[in-house]
Amino acid sequence: MKTINLLGSTGSIGVQTLDVARAHGYKIEALAAFSDVDGIEKQIREFKPRYAALVDENAAKDLKTRVADMDVTVLSGMEGVCFCGAEAKGEITLNSVVGMAGLKPTLDAVNAGKTIALANKETLVAGGHLVTEAAKRNNVSILPVDSEHSAIFQCLLGAPSNKALKRIILTASGGPFFGKTKEELQNVTLQDALKHPSWSMGQKITIDSATMFNKGLELIEAVWLFDVSPDMIDIVVHRESIVHSLIEYDDNSVIAQLGHPDMRLPIQFAITYPERFSSPEKQLDLWEIGNLTFYKPDYENFPCMNICRDAITKGGLYPAAVNCANEEANLLFRQGKISFLQIPELISLASEYTLKKQDFTLQDVFDTDSLMREKVRELAKV
Ligand code: NAD
Ligand code: MG
Repeated sequence: MKTINLLGSTGSIGVQTLDVARAHGYKIEALAAFSDVDGIEKQIREFKPRYAALVDENAAKDLKTRVADMDVTVLSGMEGVCFCGAEAKGEITLNSVVGMAGLKPTLDAVNAGKTIALANKETLVAGGHLVTEAAKRNNVSILPVDSEHSAIFQCLLGAPSNKALKRIILTASGGPFFGKTKEELQNVTLQDALKHPSWSMGQKITIDSATMFNKGLELIEAVWLFDVSPDMIDIVVHRESIVHSLIEYDDNSVIAQLGHPDMRLPIQFAITYPERFSSPEKQLDLWEIGNLTFYKPDYENFPCMNICRDAITKGGLYPAAVNCANEEANLLFRQGKISFLQIPELISLASEYTLKKQDFTLQDVFDTDSLMREKVRELAKV
């Protein structure tokens, strides 16, 4: 039975990971989250981890009192989260923290030799070469949880060799604003943007799906996970979210992975790999689905995909910059301080200020984060 350290346990992916753990009886060694005391207390009582951490110091204090009757050590701050990922006994660290806050916990877990199941895509976007080099050095696998990357990973199993891979085709639902014109996008509200057509997810990624920045992040994520160049990756809009992504070989044979839009399958596969077990996901009924449709993305009205493509093509700190600028712009939109169309505008303008360095350290990434957040706020005049 595999044992798991779960970071971001109270979020959308965290809760679904615990569904999978409950179904298969996996042991949870550590749980970490930001500040949700009620949520994590319930999880501690059910899964009895050895360690738990909350970033927020007061919330952690409260938690400590509440679970004083249990055999669990409660930690706090980012050190606590990193400890849970790296030092707790789980063989797999599943990182479903939201945002680039997940970078240090991922790196620490990689350096501790844990197998990484990665939902936290911002980690690979902001610190791609730091994470992949550390993984190589420590002989650690990074298994994708993101549904598209899990699909590509599954399609590549049994591939003759990576050299035969010609193209990756990432599918995108198109989000709630598919087909809208710039004029129509002018006044969309937070409520409109939160109505995702096929997936139920945390707020940040739901807004990223509405702007299509999420697909840009996924393009960069695929570059690092599968060691391909950005021009080998195409994006296709597929409204039904049944085909989770495809790969194309040199002989033009295309392989796809299909399933209902249910994150529990990619989560489970990252944990059970290389094995497969029964899953709570509903069986696919192609007669019921009937039609699958595919469209070209609208790059003009949804520029975030190309903002990300350009950033990874330029390399260096650009991917970190656009990611961090987006984290701030996404937050300002959720706080009602900027409009939907300001998100790509602010990311483009702020990322101009990126340090032009090809080789960088973790500290450079953190500095880029602070600089981008400051620039976005300054440019938005908030
Ligand atoms: P969410 O907002 O629902 O949950 C985020 C979790 O991270 C919460 O438990 C929160 O407490 C915790 N957290 C936030 N900051 C933290 C910190 N500094 N340290 C420790 N924990 C912290 O988000 P989500 O939708 O579950 O997404 C999580 C990650 O997975 C994101 O990177 C997202 O892009 C990725 N992802 C999500 C989905 C999905 O279906 N939700 C699909 C693919 C990828
Ligand atoms: Mg995805």
